[in-house]
Amino acid sequence: MPILDEDMLKSAKAGKLRAGRNPLIKYLSGGKIFRTDAVKAKCYDCNGMGESKECDIISCSLYPYSPYRIKKDRLLKRALGGVRRGKKGIVGEVSNA
Ligand code: SF4
Repeated sequence: MPILDEDMLKSAKAGKLRAGRNPLIKYLSGGKIFRTDAVKAKCYDCNGMGESKECDIISCSLYPYSPYRIKKDRLLKRALGGVRRGKKGIVGEVSNA
């Protein structure tokens, strides 16, 4: 199969070595990839070819499957602005340091 997008392929090859880089290169080179790798490849592209280590766009439909999603606890800290919730409600404050 032909190369799908020469410029994007160059960007991916020059990008950081993070999850999704290799599947994206394979796909852009005309290769076939599995669904899980397609998600990783899209997130790699979306994160500026791996520039950012994490994604906090929880409204994105790919977020639950993204290798760049923020771990639940850290996401909660951000959302709650320093308040930590446990099974029994707010259990204390957390520092963002
Ligand atoms: S989950 Fe995040 S990184 Fe992945 S496509 Fe959605 S917004 Fe982009």
